[in-house]
Amino acid sequence: MAQGKLFVISGPSGVGKGTICKRILETDPKARFSVSMTTRQPREGEVEAVDYFFVSRDRFEELLGKGGLLEYNVYNETYYGTPKAPVVQWIEEGCNVILEIDYHGAFQVRDAYPEAVLIFIMPPSIEELETRITGRGSESEESKKYRLAEALGEIAQAEQYDYIIVNDDLDAAVARVSEIMNKED
Ligand code: 5GP
Repeated sequence: MAQGKLFVISGPSGVGKGTICKRILETDPKARFSVSMTTRQPREGEVEAVDYFFVSRDRFEELLGKGGLLEYNVYNETYYGTPKAPVVQWIEEGCNVILEIDYHGAFQVRDAYPEAVLIFIMPPSIEELETRITGRGSESEESKKYRLAEALGEIAQAEQYDYIIVNDDLDAAVARVSEIMNKED
């Protein structure tokens, strides 16, 4: 059986990456979503093993030490990483795996799997992004500031991606990602 492929989806916090991934997963039976591991606290409504595996720093560092993460990063004093085992298994099973991770992780994945396809989701404008980030009620002022600064740094990396998609229309953005996944399939 042909091996599956890796698709990395990045973009600044608040750009709507999660919604796009969710829509792809609902419609593409071959797509699988890599649930990341994090040491951040769950936000209201987030579900263990669906949104993230929420773990302690000790557990994260243990897995990292054992080589169990495909990539990882520290963001806002919090660890985020991709558990390796499910990704490797899905690829072997011929599924296409979506990783929703930041650019630090994306470039680590590209180093390990040069054939990975990197897709960057861009906000329609910086003002729009600011509104989306500051409108997220669950975040402290300090965290919002951090996220906005990180978002600008993230956007500066977009050109290194294989594809850039502007999310000014959700349906169109989903269709474009889907098209790329089928083309690269
Ligand atoms: P959030 O706290 O908003 O869920 O995520 C914060 C940032 O961490 C986002 O830019 C998100 O893309 C990134 N992120 C989430 N999971 C991972 C991961 O497994 N690895 C890396 N490198 N970044 C991640």
